Amino acid sequence: MSVSEKATIICSKCSAETDFVAWKSITTDTDPVFKEKVRAGELYQCICPKCGNVTIIEYDTLYNEVDKDLTIYFVTSDESYESAMELLKSDVEESEEEQSGVFRVVRSRAAFREKLLISDAGYDDRAIEILKLITATHVKEIQKISFDTALFDMQKGKYGFVFFEKGKPGIFIPMIEDMYKQVVTDFSPRYPVDEKDNLEVGLEWAINIVKDNQF
Ligand SMILES: [Zn+2]
Repeated sequence: MSVSEKATIICSKCSAETDFVAWKSITTDTDPVFKEKVRAGELYQCICPKCGNVTIIEYDTLYNEVDKDLTIYFVTSDESYESAMELLKSDVEESEEEQSGVFRVVRSRAAFREKLLISDAGYDDRAIEILKLITATHVKEIQKISFDTALFDMQKGKYGFVFFEKGKPGIFIPMIEDMYKQVVTDFSPRYPVDEKDNLEVGLEWAINIVKDNQF
């Protein structure tokens, strides 16, 4: 069962009051409607009924997509990060007998969306993060393009990576399927065996996996 909290939001443009429902915990087996909502980013949008102004409201969300065996905890503060890690660590322990399930903690809405997109595309986010790191190294050192963030995305029907600087999207590098397969072959033996070490699969995680390797 999904869990929600109500709040009253005052529009910054026209000062109208709106009832906003924050979905703190979502499970898609009882509430499949959220599969769409979460992908559309609707959970964090409060639309003013009077003037249409959109206010972004971020809050911690524990998202469980049962048919994919996927659990994502989106956290909005360091405090909630710590408690999310604790909670997911115990979830991992419980699920260890079945050896199934993906448990991830993400710290931004963009990363939340990215994890869903990777899962929907049928890729392993661990290999994607490593491939992103390799691609990012190339973009920075060979192409001499500066950026501060890279995200897995889809453009014109192709999966790849978008490179951002100060929130603005720049170059898109399509992903080469054979490279993805090569990354899986080369690096999957190095993935941490303990799933507790795979709760936060991002840049730092990828650096730790590849740091001893030469490219
Ligand atoms: Zn308004």
